[in-house]
Amino acid sequence: MKKVRIQDDLYTYVNQEWLESAVIPDDKPTTGGFAVLADGVEKLMMDEFKNLTKENNYPSEHMKYACKLYSKVLNTKKRNKDGIKPALKTLQKIQKLNTVSDLNKKIKELVIENLPLPFTFSIDVDMKDADKHAIFIQGPSVILPDTTFYKEGMEERKAMLLGFYKNMLEGLLSFAELSKEEIDTYIADTFAFDELIAKYVKSNEEWSEYAKMYNPYKLSKVNSLLKPIKFKKLVASLYETVPEKIIVTEPRYFLNFKEVFNEETFTLYKHWAYTKQLVKDSAYLSEELREIGTSYRRAISGIKVMPSVEKYAYQVASNFYTQPVGLYYALKYFGEEAKKDVTEMVSEIIEAYKERVKNSDILADSTKEKAILKLSTMKVKMGYPDKIDSIFDKFVFEDKDSLYKAVSTIRKEYRLDELSNLTKEVDRGKWYMPGHLVNASYNPSSNDITFPAAILQAPFYSIKQTRSQNLGGIGAVIGHEISHAFDNNGALFDEKGNLNNWWTKEDFKKFNSRTKAMIKQFDGIELPWGKVNGSFIVSENIADNGGVAVTLHVMKKMDNPNYSEYFTNWAKVWCLKAKEEYLKLLLAMDVHGPAILRANMPPKNFEEWYDTFNVTKKDKMYIAPSKRVVIW
Ligand SMILES: [Zn+2]
Repeated sequence: MKKVRIQDDLYTYVNQEWLESAVIPDDKPTTGGFAVLADGVEKLMMDEFKNLTKENNYPSEHMKYACKLYSKVLNTKKRNKDGIKPALKTLQKIQKLNTVSDLNKKIKELVIENLPLPFTFSIDVDMKDADKHAIFIQGPSVILPDTTFYKEGMEERKAMLLGFYKNMLEGLLSFAELSKEEIDTYIADTFAFDELIAKYVKSNEEWSEYAKMYNPYKLSKVNSLLKPIKFKKLVASLYETVPEKIIVTEPRYFLNFKEVFNEETFTLYKHWAYTKQLVKDSAYLSEELREIGTSYRRAISGIKVMPSVEKYAYQVASNFYTQPVGLYYALKYFGEEAKKDVTEMVSEIIEAYKERVKNSDILADSTKEKAILKLSTMKVKMGYPDKIDSIFDKFVFEDKDSLYKAVSTIRKEYRLDELSNLTKEVDRGKWYMPGHLVNASYNPSSNDITFPAAILQAPFYSIKQTRSQNLGGIGAVIGHEISHAFDNNGALFDEKGNLNNWWTKEDFKKFNSRTKAMIKQFDGIELPWGKVNGSFIVSENIADNGGVAVTLHVMKKMDNPNYSEYFTNWAKVWCLKAKEEYLKLLLAMDVHGPAILRANMPPKNFEEWYDTFNVTKKDKMYIAPSKRVVIW
């Protein structure tokens, strides 16, 4: 391939050699910046699990159980012999429901066991009172990756993807105690119920407007919307004190609930619930069932094979024992020096952010003050949590238990803990990302940012990298997460994490018009695998833009800033190679934009990009000053 010029395409210029030679693992949809690190952590931890189990010597009770679960996955002889049997009792619970009245009698049990209902019931932080919890209800998820796949013009792709799903269900249901005719009926009903749901639940784009989830309804109102389900009775069976407020995350679905779920559609629901549960459970049964049960997900992501049993065993253990595994990883592989260094970097970037807010040309003083307050009170979670949540003490099971039973016990404990949260204060110290995860986050409800130990590696961060490189890597990620406090969603929350408008009308209008400019900058960009939806990914683009803006601000204050190193490392962290099917899926499902755009778009808005590489009108990575967008 001909070498591209940096002025035309920073991303390809920096990553060209890698893009030409990188190989996507057969059991993964991607490789690249984040994925390479995640695969490295996985490999390291697989060896750890292997050794811990072999030596039968565990650093904690939690890790002992994590390894026991790991061993249960590895015991394919037992799993294959048991086949579907361990899951039958649960599946029969669904099969025995013949009327809505049966469902009402059993609904508490179904909620506690998290079996598929025509609505989901969950406990989460009350967005307007972030020290407390509330009940949230939501519609079920659809089979296809997004509701847009059910719209006109998508028929061909829809038929293809549903074909993969149908093959999977035929395979799975052949293990159940059902006749051929029954299997056909179960599948047809599953699709019919899915169509009903898809008419009213939110699209991924609608979900991306996070604050619109907050629609408090009176319990009595929800009770009448959900009829024939006895919702009020359900809540009263779960809680001594019945809350008056229910958060309805998608009103359209619940306002049309009676059309989706009623006496006539009950059988459709029941067969849909059965197949949905079977797909979920197949992951913990025999190898054959695991292979079939993951076939749809693999097909739509372009993944060739399922992970080896050894890898899968580690994945299962680390998915359930997240914090203990994260702590083990962090204590062994994460240096205190890095923790201290990056923590200082965060403080410095927050200070730089404050300066930028002070200099903002769109904000009045009163709004600036509030934004600075939000920055001053922002909490930082670095590396790994000091203590492990008590819920992990409850993740215990018997040696003789099947894998399925052990997993069911853990799931149930997890669910009981979630349900019990309703009456508890929110624990703001809680971590939602484990130490071994290569990621970072901002939580609007607690106004905090989290950087797990595993992301503090090169190319994001290294003591051996220059400061300019680190600023283009982890620095920009830090700036990105801070910016989420001020993106189109985060800006609606105050410094305590409550949905509470702290803007003057005038300022919010100006902010919105810049948000619109950001949408326009990305909307409709054509890539070989599809077109970009600027509205869907705008919050992430605001965050990327803010991350670059604030780190360039820090660079400006350095003695010898090296902008070339900065932009090169910025482009390096976004390198990504993925299966085409997966790239298409990301366009529909991921609120983050395609990697090449994340690397190439933000720099174009900043003077430093033009000055460093002499970028002019003749170059592809030039945009006119009037079209450049800087929000923070
Ligand atoms: Zn983000």
